[in-house]
Amino acid sequence: MQLFRPGSVGSKVGVVLEFTSQAAALAEFVISRDGATSHTARISMDAVNALFPGRVISRKGDIAWPPRSPDLTVCDFFLWGDLRTKVFGGIPPRTIPALIECIRQEVGAIPANMLRGVIKQFVARVEECVRFNESHLADNIAPGIKTVTKSNLSVLGSPIFLDSVDEIATQKLELLKTLFGRLEHFHPQNPAIQKAWDEIIAGQILDSLISSFTSDKDIARIKALQEKESGSWLHALPSSCVGTLMDGKSFQIATALRLGCKICHVHQCICGETADSFGHHALSCARSKGRLPRHSAINNIISRSLTSCDIPTLLEPSGISRSDGKRPDGLTLIPWSKGKSLIWDFTCVDTSALSHLKSSVNCAGSAAESAYHAKRRKYEHLTSNYIFVAFAVETFGPWCRDAKDLMTQIGTRLLSRTGDPRCINFLRQRIGIAVQRGNAASILGSRRDLSHLMCSIPA
Ligand SMILES: [Zn+2]
Repeated sequence: MQLFRPGSVGSKVGVVLEFTSQAAALAEFVISRDGATSHTARISMDAVNALFPGRVISRKGDIAWPPRSPDLTVCDFFLWGDLRTKVFGGIPPRTIPALIECIRQEVGAIPANMLRGVIKQFVARVEECVRFNESHLADNIAPGIKTVTKSNLSVLGSPIFLDSVDEIATQKLELLKTLFGRLEHFHPQNPAIQKAWDEIIAGQILDSLISSFTSDKDIARIKALQEKESGSWLHALPSSCVGTLMDGKSFQIATALRLGCKICHVHQCICGETADSFGHHALSCARSKGRLPRHSAINNIISRSLTSCDIPTLLEPSGISRSDGKRPDGLTLIPWSKGKSLIWDFTCVDTSALSHLKSSVNCAGSAAESAYHAKRRKYEHLTSNYIFVAFAVETFGPWCRDAKDLMTQIGTRLLSRTGDPRCINFLRQRIGIAVQRGNAASILGSRRDLSHLMCSIPA
């Protein structure tokens, strides 16, 4: 326990009853106690409450202890782990006295500069905690505070004791050199941010993965998957109420497509052509069963999101035709921007279709961009009266620029209405799920029965 005058350095005392004869002298003191059970026994609390009315910091006292945080407690974020590593790093002590002696020696051997580093980190953590309004600390709260526990960089040890970003950067560069044998491109713009280092590692692994592929389809797939929108369906919370629960078949096929696994046996497609075991033919088949439901689902998502922004829409409006006589997918009934209504047309093209494969290998999303340009040409004569958006996406996930821009605009309007910054992510997720459901339907529907599937897929 501790007695102290507010604003002064405290002094430890043994037994509070020693002070009973000096009660008058204690009038300006506050007593602070730990949470030990014996200290909070009724007889004990009665005694201290009588001596320190309204000034007892204790469990069951007048003033509660503040919540303890391992991120802010030096012994938690530094000492215990460090001691455990040192005490049990070699031959562990066999007896309790040996353990106590070993701990004593290791504590005594902590160098002064390490303690200075710990105190610096403590101050940085407290400042960061204040900056974040006492919420959880971010990963990059201060240079080197966060050790790299989930990557190869963890072998660096505990960088929290290093004095500067430069020291950490030098050590990490050495490690990367060991791991990858060369140092070019290993210079993150902000070496104090862990993500900057992770991106270097991920980039190197991706490069080596791509160079190991011999199939253009695999290269196109892996590059397409790097686009932000490609993995959105994986982030959706599966909920049957809001329509984001994927059925077992769709999820398994979507995952297999993403990983490049075999999905079905080689079989004759309903179009008469031979369908491969990776499902690639079904994705670009002229008689694909998934195309129409995907088209309809995504147009509905776009229409509903616009309606949520108080922009009424009309799907497949008549009276507006593109150059080949077909109608756009949707129209806003009031102006969207610059006094003009919005018309949009959705399309989904296959990343690895023969017509797009070469460009997909060179650049992720180029199939969607190509479809975007084709759409724009068809609607060129309408662009003076309408704002036209070609909403082109790919089977493996990438979107064209127009689609990204439209989603950003809708997301911004939804944010201003709902105050929820996740609106745009939810939209991306729903569209991502619709694309994957379309892919699954295309593969499942490439034969009249399901005997072509490689394994029994749960419903
Ligand atoms: Zn076919």
